[in-house]
This record gives sequence, C-alpha cells and structure tokens, in this order.
Amino acid sequence: MKTSLLEKKYNFNLETAKSRAFEQQQITVNEKKEIESKIKEELKRQNAILISHYYVDGLLQDLTLSTGGTVSDSLEMARFGKEHSATTLVVSGVKFMGETAKILSPEKRILMPDVEATCSLDLGCPVDDFTRFCDENPERIVVVYANTSAAVKARADWTVTSSCAVDIVKHFAKEKIPIIFAPDKHLGQYIRENTGADMLLWDGHCVVHDEFKAFELKEMKQNLNADTLVLVHPESPKSVVEQADFIGSTSQMLNFSIKSKAKNFIVATDGGLLHSMRKASLDKVFYEAPTAGSGATCKSCAYCPWMAMNSLKGILNALKNGVGEILVSNETIKKANTSLERMLDFTKNNVQKN
Ligand code: 13P
Ligand code: SF4
Repeated sequence: MKTSLLEKKYNFNLETAKSRAFEQQQITVNEKKEIESKIKEELKRQNAILISHYYVDGLLQDLTLSTGGTVSDSLEMARFGKEHSATTLVVSGVKFMGETAKILSPEKRILMPDVEATCSLDLGCPVDDFTRFCDENPERIVVVYANTSAAVKARADWTVTSSCAVDIVKHFAKEKIPIIFAPDKHLGQYIRENTGADMLLWDGHCVVHDEFKAFELKEMKQNLNADTLVLVHPESPKSVVEQADFIGSTSQMLNFSIKSKAKNFIVATDGGLLHSMRKASLDKVFYEAPTAGSGATCKSCAYCPWMAMNSLKGILNALKNGVGEILVSNETIKKANTSLERMLDFTKNNVQKN
C-alpha cells in the first residue's frame, strides 16, 4: 500500500505498525495460558497493576479486568493510575497514556508493552511548532487534548479528554476567554459548536476516526433495523458526528449502549471497543461503522495500528525484564502536572454525562 501524505509528513508508516502488531499477537492457546499465568505471578511479586484502553486486544482487556485493573477511557485510566496503591503501573495503550500516568504519579514505575506505540495526534503536534503557535497568540489560553506529548502538555494551561472537553470549555466560553485548542481539528470543531467558545484550532487528526465515511454510514443505517442507533467518537469528521444518536468518549459510548433499550448499534470508533460492548450486552448487536466505500482503500480500517502493538508477550517482557519504562524529566512533569491536575479537579467537582 502507498504511503499517505500524513505518514510522509510525520515520518511514520502505518503498515510497519500493523505488521509488528500482527506478529506480536500470534500465540497458541497453550502459550496464552502460560504467558497469562506468568504475568499474574509478576503482578503480585512486583505490586503491579494493569491499566488498559478499550482499543487494545480483547485478550489484554480480559486479563486486565480479571487481575483487578481497569479497562477504560483516557480520563479514567489517568485517575485510576493516580489513585491506585500499586507501585508499578503497566499501561497498555499508546505513549501519551503512559506519560500521563508518569506525570500524575512520578513516584511510580510506569511500564508499557511497546513504547513505540504512539498516536497520529501526538505525532502531528511537535512541541517546537506548537510552542511557536502559542507564542504567536499570547492572548489565548492553551487547552490541549490528552492525546499529546508530555512536552506539549507542559506548554498548556489545561488538558482535556473527550469525556470532559465540552464541560471544561463551556466555562471559558461563559467568561469569554479565547482559547487555542490542539491537536484534533474534528474534536475542536465539535467543542466549538457545543460551547460557542472562541477557539483557534491546530490542524491535526486521528488516522482511525478521520476515515469514517458519512455517505456509507447513512446507507448502512438505512439497511439495518429501524431501531439502530449510531454511536460516534468526537474525533470523527463533522459529517459523521451529525448522524450520531450519541457522541462521547469510549467509556461514555459503552455506558450508553448498556443503558439503552435499543438492540442494534453502529459504532464509529476503533473496533476494539466492540469487545467490551458485546461482553456487557449479550442480547445486543454491534456493527463497525464503515471506513470506506466499496472498492476504496482504508489506511486504518477502524483499528488503531499503534494500539494493536500491545500484546501479552509485551506485558510479560516489560514486567520480567523491566523494558518499556516511561521516563519524563522532572521539569516537564512539574509543568505538565498542572494542566492534568486541573482536569482531574474539574471532573471530580462536576458531574459527568456518563
Ligand atoms: P477516549 O478518551 O475516549 O478513550 O479516547 C482516546 C483515544 O485515543 C480515542 O482515539
Ligand atoms: Fe491516536 Fe487515533 Fe489511535 Fe486514538 S485511535 S490512539 S487518537 S491514532
């Protein structure tokens, strides 16, 4: 497959990430059992806990829950890691999630199954360019999405996730405070439309959500039962968000699907979330939203290539050999901590819509 402009611009290759992910997931049933039991031993021995995102392989999600860890959205991963008494956190997700855990708990050891698992939003917002952008607009406060590097968070006044962004920005809109928002332009547009805030947007996007297609989604819904609801993550393009019956973070979409009386759902986010949705509602049917029309090609096909790099072997390797440790300089931790703690304080004091 040809390299896309985005891959060239930010010097990464989705196909490499995908084939690495595929290689790592290849294990037999016996290997799986053996690896899982070794991971359990190591978790106990090292006072460690697993923290996973919904987009990682279902095997990792199940092991995380059965060992007392959490599978959740970015906000809850951050909160859980900070509040848990374990001294080692094994974060299965992408790099910004490991860095967030380190910034919020500098005294803990943070391990990741594959430190090269990153995110197109993080890659598309290099700290030098971003700092210049902020310096050129000094009258605006700086709000960044959690999907950014520790260095970018250190330059920000606030960090937000998709579960709390609208609620937080509403406060700035009320006070007529102009803001910079980075890096996701689709999420930025969605927040602007729901808050009326004066927002200057960075031009970044998620390679997974950007591919959902409005025309094909409409067609798909027309061909399914009349009670089918559409659930959309706000990193998706506006034309897709407009068709949603519910818009929210991964945890919020999952909770909505559990509480809803509807039986059929089209889900516009990484397909990994469907593992948790199906487990929680055995009587309901979940469909992946379309990523491309017939005959067209898709780059991610609704699966984040970096999330897929997380594997059972990677977790065991991290725990046994101490590889994949996330380190962030003290100076960056100190600065980035302020923007993250503001978000945690805000969400603690304000009821969320899930
Ligand atoms: P959530 O915080 O909704 O889980 O989203 C994280 C993410 O990377 C979505 O692509
Ligand atoms: Fe980043 Fe998109 Fe992957 Fe989420 S799904 S980690 S936003 S590339």
